Amino acid sequence: MGNLFEKGTIALVTGGSSGIGQACAIDLAKNGAYVIINYSGHKEGAQETLDAVLKAGGAGAIIRANVGVEEDVNNMFKKIMANFKKLDILVNNAGIIRDGYLLMMKKEAFDQVINVNLGGCFMCTQAAVRIMAGQKKGAIVNISSTSGITGSEGQANYSASKAGIIGFTKTVAKEYASRNIRVNVVAPGFIDTKMTRANKELLEGKYLQHIPMGRFGQPEDIAHAVTYLASDLASYVTGKVLTVDGGMTM
Ligand code: NAP
Repeated sequence: MGNLFEKGTIALVTGGSSGIGQACAIDLAKNGAYVIINYSGHKEGAQETLDAVLKAGGAGAIIRANVGVEEDVNNMFKKIMANFKKLDILVNNAGIIRDGYLLMMKKEAFDQVINVNLGGCFMCTQAAVRIMAGQKKGAIVNISSTSGITGSEGQANYSASKAGIIGFTKTVAKEYASRNIRVNVVAPGFIDTKMTRANKELLEGKYLQHIPMGRFGQPEDIAHAVTYLASDLASYVTGKVLTVDGGMTM
């Protein structure tokens, strides 16, 4: 157990039941934060994250909410305030893909991805900033993607949502810097998780040659960047995009 975070630090990680969110929750906990692990459908995944947190000597809890549904988000933040009376760190990690080339993409697939990835980030950030503004301290890390910077074939909806997160982050960072709330982005490249595993062979053939470091990233590679930005080590860093992609988008 490290002590990057002071005792009593409360962190919420959305989409903490799998992949990058799971690694973020575990790493924040290893560094001393109490982690609230959000999930929408996979309670067993969230429980697995919590078990790993406890095994590492950390502490936390799980909480269900679909970040794309306003009522769920409101209820989640009400519960957090009722139980902890504060929130120090928010990691907006929950995300989905519904890929397809533009001319094949249904409006419903576009809306769904924008609603969860960007709408969820908006609703959770708004609720968190309400709390953090009163505390005059807070750190928010939003998970975007290199797709939101360079574009990505077959991902018009996803790339738009991830590019949106970057503009959104910079705006909130400007609006609330004076309240000592820092808001930053981590933009992962290709990370080995459930999201990419289904297409791994295809992606390896297509992209591995474009990754100077010659490998896909691991969820922990992203978690370490998130922990840094969430911590006081980054106390003068806000409105920034930290790309973690093995050099793919230099
Ligand atoms: P993953 O393994 O599929 O995990 C996605 C997580 O998001 C799950 O915990 C899932 O929870 C949660 N989630 C999905 N919809 C949700 C909703 N409506 N409300 C709350 N939680 C929801 O994917 P991942 O690769 O770890 O992705 C995590 C984030 O990193 C995403 O934002 C993704 O876009 C981003 N990213 C990933 C890569 C990559 O290469 N893997 C690259 C760039 C960016 P449930 O299963 O409980 O629903």
